[in-house]
Amino acid sequence: MNPTLESQLKRTIRRGRVLSAPAQLAGYNTDGLGYKTFRPDAVVIPADAEEMIALLRESRELNVPVTIRGAGTSLSGGPVAAEGGIVVHTSSLKKIRTISREGFWCEVECSVTLSQLDEALRAHNLFYPPDPSSGPVCTLGGNVAMNAGGAHCFRYGVTSNYVLGLEVVMLDGSVHRFGGPAGGRGDWHEDWKRLMVGSEGTLGAFTRFWLRVLPR
Ligand SMILES: Cc1cc2nc3c(=O)[nH]c(=O)nc-3n(C[C@H](O)[C@H](O)[C@H](O)COP(=O)(O)OP(=O)(O)OC[C@H]3O[C@@H](n4cnc5c(N)ncnc54)[C@H](O)[C@@H]3O)c2cc1C
Repeated sequence: MNPTLESQLKRTIRRGRVLSAPAQLAGYNTDGLGYKTFRPDAVVIPADAEEMIALLRESRELNVPVTIRGAGTSLSGGPVAAEGGIVVHTSSLKKIRTISREGFWCEVECSVTLSQLDEALRAHNLFYPPDPSSGPVCTLGGNVAMNAGGAHCFRYGVTSNYVLGLEVVMLDGSVHRFGGPAGGRGDWHEDWKRLMVGSEGTLGAFTRFWLRVLPR
């Protein structure tokens, strides 16, 4: 890796969260399709949303491409660094923050997996319908970015039908919330949330979501 990039990243990011050895980078070369491989210059695993914000601000100053990656099961190349630069692996943002039994919503961080959410909702007799068949490993961040769906979509719809709100760190490091537990547009005139769902990691990094759930 370019030594300037490495030293800048290590100044911003906590110890052990910047990967640059070839053997470490090899695991990030491709996605679920495996059609082509591209090695990133570095992989960063932010410890929390604050570190994600600092990283995106820094990478803008460094003028390097940034690729957001959840579980890497995409079949269309989205989490692969086709032009090098930094892969941001979201795997540390995996808390389920709130489950509202009465309000039929939950608040989750972006790297919660579908099966992790399903297990937590089961205890409350609730159910989150979108079910891509990569569910045991894929993340909600990847699901929202790809507007994923599975067999349940014929009856219940796809991910976009369940996103009430989201928090996103834009590529300049600014943070925005669109919608929330009650859905809607928040303070905004336009429904930016709808633009974000299905944006395939091109507009920013989602950090958390408010999702609609149903009785099981
Ligand atoms: C065996 C298998 C079965 C599959 N079955 C289905 C299926 O039934 N239905 C279906 O729709 N898809 C399916 N897929 C495709 C894939 O699993 C889904 O698109 C899934 O939503 C990707 O989630 P992920 O966490 O792996 O995201 P990744 O592959 O890591 O990323 C996918 C895209 O989302 C972006 N992204 C990831 N996290 C964030 C974030 N926090 N903020 C912003 N952007 C982000 C990435 O930049 C990338 O563009 C399948 C894949 C495999 C390998």
